[in-house]
Amino acid sequence: MSYDDKIPYKIYLSEDEIPKQWYNVRADMKNKPAPLLNPATLKPMGYEDLRSVFCDELIKQELDDTTAYIDIPGEILDFYKMYRPSPLVRAYCLEKALDTPAKIYYKFEGNNTSGSHKLNSAIVQAYYAKKQGLKGVTTETGAGQWGTALSMASAYFGIDCKVYMVKVSYEQKPFRREVMRTYGASVTPSPSMETEIGRKINAEHPGTTGSLGCAISEAVEVATKTEGYRYVLGSVLNQVLLHQTVIGLEAKAALEKYGVKPDVIIGCAGGGSNLGGLISPFMGEKIRGEQDYRIVAVEPASCPSFTRGKFAYDFCDTGMVCPLAKMYTLGSNFIPSASHAGGLRYHGMSPILSQLYHDGLMEAVSVEQTSVFAAAQQFARVEGILPAPESSHAIRVAIDEALKCKETGEEKTILFGLTGTGYFDMVAYQKFNDGEMSDYIPTDDELQKSFERLRKVDL
Ligand SMILES: *Cc1c(COP(=O)(O)O)cnc(C)c1O
Repeated sequence: MSYDDKIPYKIYLSEDEIPKQWYNVRADMKNKPAPLLNPATLKPMGYEDLRSVFCDELIKQELDDTTAYIDIPGEILDFYKMYRPSPLVRAYCLEKALDTPAKIYYKFEGNNTSGSHKLNSAIVQAYYAKKQGLKGVTTETGAGQWGTALSMASAYFGIDCKVYMVKVSYEQKPFRREVMRTYGASVTPSPSMETEIGRKINAEHPGTTGSLGCAISEAVEVATKTEGYRYVLGSVLNQVLLHQTVIGLEAKAALEKYGVKPDVIIGCAGGGSNLGGLISPFMGEKIRGEQDYRIVAVEPASCPSFTRGKFAYDFCDTGMVCPLAKMYTLGSNFIPSASHAGGLRYHGMSPILSQLYHDGLMEAVSVEQTSVFAAAQQFARVEGILPAPESSHAIRVAIDEALKCKETGEEKTILFGLTGTGYFDMVAYQKFNDGEMSDYIPTDDELQKSFERLRKVDL
């Protein structure tokens, strides 16, 4: 460990250095992400088309491809102050353990009760729902982080929150459920018998333990059929990436204080929101030709949307009630194996990141579950933080990059996003510790079957 370069272990910004605006990378993108399409007419969906599902102000953000900076309302800034700025940590102890000349930094987003970055967008979505005079919001949750974040945000602004939780998680993670209920949310296992789509799925697949795609369909149905309610989503959408840019803006400001420029930026990618938020300000510079960075998305080998998916229009949900989005996808019928990184088990990917990847502005790699947990364990033992399985995908690749530097002697600067903590994932850690964790990788045949069911869209 060397503190020679006079960089502290933790770089904190002050409260007034919390960004006052989000940065909208679409304004700088030469090829804009493709618009959402109405599944019935295949026409791009405009403001009026989306009003029955989403909050008005959030639709404006969703459709805004031109405004580079969008003001963060004061009430949201006040909430951000409770847990932001989040620390940027120089991983001195990890560098020493790896005996690498690389300099490793991570932006830690697990310092709030929800335990992940998802609160950054949850609070925004609850705020605009409240401001519009709505009674409440509905959503889905898989692993439970998003549901927890939204419950906290809804409690803060005094609106109702109905969470449809994938049945398998509902049963396996009773404590996640109780956190949500403590914050006042109602939590229903999905598929339920309360919705048309839930009853249909239950009839077709008796005893099913659900999927994220089913839970989304249920939450959307309830929002559109209940007066005063709208649906909110914790990832994938352009607006969510926008809100998450507080991560990247803070990280960049903290590094600039010490004159540090990252060579490689790494993040895990489920729906793409934390990665999009972390890289946006750096990507903006890259697109404008001001700086160059290597940007790497890390996904699970069990759910490899970028590395093995198709860039095509697809449904965001299994029930096919949501708009079509153009993204890297494994097909909305693809049900990933029971990987322990619940937050990365989504068939699609953010349209913004999909376009950037398609244009060659970023790379993607997939990693296997056991190697991810090995990295998580190594990280926990030296850096102290018990990482979420999702976040540990980024740790895996950051360690691999640092080990490459050891071989070549290069002193690269690596920045990665540490999205959250793993206290509710101890069953997964237990499996790993007991040597009972396996790696499932879908075959080409399996993926092909799912691709064949993609909706054909000619534009
Ligand atoms: C949900 C989640 C992710 C993945 O979601 P993205 O939208 O891709 O960021 C990653 N890490 C944690 C801790 C999560 O809760």
